[in-house]
Amino acid sequence: MTKSAQHILEEVFGYRCFRHHQKDIIQTLIQGRDVMTLMPTGGGKSLCYQIPALVREGTGIVVSPLIALMKDQVDALRQLGIRAAFLNSTLSFEEVRATEQALREGGLDILYVAPERLLTEHMLALLEASRIALFAIDEAHCVSQWGHDFRREYQQLSILHQRFPGVPRIALTATADQRTRAEIIAQLGLEQAAVFINSFDRPNIRYALSEGQNAREQLWRFLEREHPRDAGIVYCLSRKKVESIAAWLNDRGRVALPYHAGLADEVRHRHQERFLREEGVIVVATIAFGMGIDKPDVRFVAHLNLPKSIEAYYQETGRAGRDGLPANAWMAYGLQDVITLRQMMQEGDGDERYKRVAHQKLEAMLGLCELTTCRRRALLEYFGEACEAPCGNCDNCLSPPQTWDGSEAARKALSCVYRTGQRFGVNYVIDVLCGKDDARIHHNGHHRLSTYGIGGELNNTEWRSLFRQLIARRYLEVDLEGHGTLRLTDLCRPLLRGEAGIELRRLRKAERTSKKNKAAGGHLRPQDASLFEALRRLRLTLAEAQGVPPYVIFHDSTLMEMARIRPRSLDEMRAISGIGEHKLKRYGQVFLETIASHTTREPVDTGAEATPEEA
Ligand code: ADP
Ligand code: ZN
Repeated sequence: MTKSAQHILEEVFGYRCFRHHQKDIIQTLIQGRDVMTLMPTGGGKSLCYQIPALVREGTGIVVSPLIALMKDQVDALRQLGIRAAFLNSTLSFEEVRATEQALREGGLDILYVAPERLLTEHMLALLEASRIALFAIDEAHCVSQWGHDFRREYQQLSILHQRFPGVPRIALTATADQRTRAEIIAQLGLEQAAVFINSFDRPNIRYALSEGQNAREQLWRFLEREHPRDAGIVYCLSRKKVESIAAWLNDRGRVALPYHAGLADEVRHRHQERFLREEGVIVVATIAFGMGIDKPDVRFVAHLNLPKSIEAYYQETGRAGRDGLPANAWMAYGLQDVITLRQMMQEGDGDERYKRVAHQKLEAMLGLCELTTCRRRALLEYFGEACEAPCGNCDNCLSPPQTWDGSEAARKALSCVYRTGQRFGVNYVIDVLCGKDDARIHHNGHHRLSTYGIGGELNNTEWRSLFRQLIARRYLEVDLEGHGTLRLTDLCRPLLRGEAGIELRRLRKAERTSKKNKAAGGHLRPQDASLFEALRRLRLTLAEAQGVPPYVIFHDSTLMEMARIRPRSLDEMRAISGIGEHKLKRYGQVFLETIASHTTREPVDTGAEATPEEA
């Protein structure tokens, strides 16, 4: 053991302190013991095996199913001066041979391998003939048959334990659920492993889930207000909607690229590459997009539909803000989403047990939407984590929703559903309530009902909000045939008899949604913005010349710190987080020059007259 973990953290990675359990995990592995760890996305899993791989003698072998990511991961390590390589099906015969030889000769610190290749006898024999520092099994939840990322090869990885009993292994995942955790331990033979479980909280992500109509315009206001130039992901349910939202954003002047399973592989690949390699690109996607997106500076994830479960929601929103800077998880949902979900629940096929689980998951998701208290607390509790205080960084904490006594209005709505024969959908019932002069209503004789035109106290939007809440809270049921016909449930009785009342959530006014999350700004002061932009341009030029994504060179947070501190020498630059020795040598000088030329033109601002960004 030549160098300590702390020394490598500082010199190679340019970071000062370990985060969360990193230090203990690293020590455990260095001592030769197995580890199993759960950390949320962006928690810093990679350092947990990269540092021990550098400390221990031999090569660290990383098993990962994400072949598309390997090249970027290896590029990022090489930028740090680490001898890294990968083996997967995208390499030519010659490249494979050269890498294998480097492994045998001890010329590699870290090697990424696809699981199917690792399991070949050829590879196992090669590993036996080489010196191995450790095995890291990334995305370890792929062993689980229950998960949607299941990989058969992962179930055979216990062979590593049998063939290399002396080599420590670490299994890593960001999947929270208990059953998966137990499966990983059992399948990989990790009964003796030290287990490190982290909080699942992502404190830099701000959650906001808003109801109401015209989600598209709401999305646009959100983008204009908070992310006029940032990269992000917009999730939609259907391919058609993906295409139309992407086109619409492009018309409005944003670079927005569609991504869904109906596009040719090569188009998908190109769009993903542009997302990674350019700045400020928005990907509009179905859930097909995401697994293996390692971009650290995704500043927002927006949902234009309701995800099917809290797990899915958390995984999708988790792609925002991996770099730890502020990011937004934003969602707009409407009445139709609630109806569609309810229909899916009633229809769904599959066996009873599967159906029951799916129902509970959808229910929990709807519950999160309708919640009037801290969203983060509810999310963490769902994953079995206690959370004492409200977070102060979700929509409900920042602007607590108001409620109103909706008992009278709800009674009107329910009796109108009843009197029209429980044969119509929301739109029709609202038209009757509002006394609309409509041929269909006249034809059905519903203009003579006592509930015709009694709903003047609310407008159409407010009625929709009321119906949405009645459906979400199960006062109303949506029918099976798909026409959205409403029916009363037993819950209605006490309400209709006047024995019970109902508190409803008031619609949020769009302008009042929430204080701006200074996501784009992060720790950037206004007076440093133009230097930051100049540094970003320099980074992009350097990245393009090497064909790597910009964040592989420096993260935004590193550039922000540079713009604020404005180092004048390599020594001053060394103190900035994210600049290790290798990068300092390679890039320090050019960045110093940009800073110097910028600073002479624009005298350094002390920040004394900095104006508050947001009144
Ligand atoms: P995960 O794989 O858990 O999603 P990563 O390993 O990609 O997370 O780490 C997320 C980001 O945090 C990376 O940019 C990484 O460089 C950074 N990071 C990790 N550990 C530290 C640390 N101790 N100090 C500062 N930054 C860190
Ligand atoms: Zn909160």
